[in-house]
Amino acid sequence: MIDILNLTLEELTDWLRRDLDQQPFRARQIWKWLWHKRARSFAEMSDLSAALRALLQEKAAIVWPAVETTQISSDGTVKFLLRLADGEMVETVLIPSESREGKGRMTQCLSSQVGCAMGCTFCSTGAMGFTRNMSMGEILGQVLVAQEYLGDSPDNPRLRNLVFMGMGEPLLNLSEVMKSLRTLNSELGLSFSPRRITVSTCGVEKGLRELGESGLAYLAVSLHAPNQALRARIMPRAARWPLNELMESLRVYPLKARERLTFEYLLLGGVNDSLEHARELSRLMAHVKGKLNLIVYNLAEGAPYRAPTPEALQAF
Ligand code: SF4
Repeated sequence: MIDILNLTLEELTDWLRRDLDQQPFRARQIWKWLWHKRARSFAEMSDLSAALRALLQEKAAIVWPAVETTQISSDGTVKFLLRLADGEMVETVLIPSESREGKGRMTQCLSSQVGCAMGCTFCSTGAMGFTRNMSMGEILGQVLVAQEYLGDSPDNPRLRNLVFMGMGEPLLNLSEVMKSLRTLNSELGLSFSPRRITVSTCGVEKGLRELGESGLAYLAVSLHAPNQALRARIMPRAARWPLNELMESLRVYPLKARERLTFEYLLLGGVNDSLEHARELSRLMAHVKGKLNLIVYNLAEGAPYRAPTPEALQAF
């Protein structure tokens, strides 16, 4: 049985021609049903013949993640716990914002792996360890769930931006993440411009150049430390790629006109939030075209870190 949401348009075209003796335009029709109209069954695909619909039903399945729980916070943030077909659980979060015209928008934080192998010491996913990579269908299934929840249509989308910043390190699941980005970028697919997609990495050498050359998304890099020694302490696996080499790769990272990298810096009280750290960070970033996103550590139960004091935050 083919899991049809895992096929790129080219793969779907090949499969239909090879196994079902169908013309390429059929793939485009089915693709639109899957990604534009969010069809959950082949029976809905009313412009296909009854015989083809029956054949598809026999040979393929449309598998969406199941929504296990939905939590809505007072600030409008929506957190979904999703159950994948094999029972594994992942999280995806919708974060509200307002456009310049005052329209309510959402940014979705997507997971790309079940668990994570990187073991960053401030991250609860890191503490879980790695279970497996997510497929394209599972990654984009999160978007379908969110769009359905929001009642989005192509001419009235509330879901505006996507960030690969949930569970997992996207560059360690590069092939499925790249397939997902192509489907997101495709007009017949989910139709998200690359300017509305950000892939966030903790700094993994493999795949960084490929992502940049693809032009399929913006890049965010989690620094969280302004020097190698501190980075090795709080992000031991990411720090295997020395900070000076990471920064040199980012200095020559392919960027479009007016595009900038985003650096993420999580402020951990008493760990990386001193004025000297701020100065070091500013020197480190001086030769890279990037902007800085400071994040205040969110205290979790049993966490080994604390939030910075308001004074340290202000001074930083
Ligand atoms: Fe957590 Fe991201 Fe680090 Fe993985 S790479 S442990 S998800 S912060």
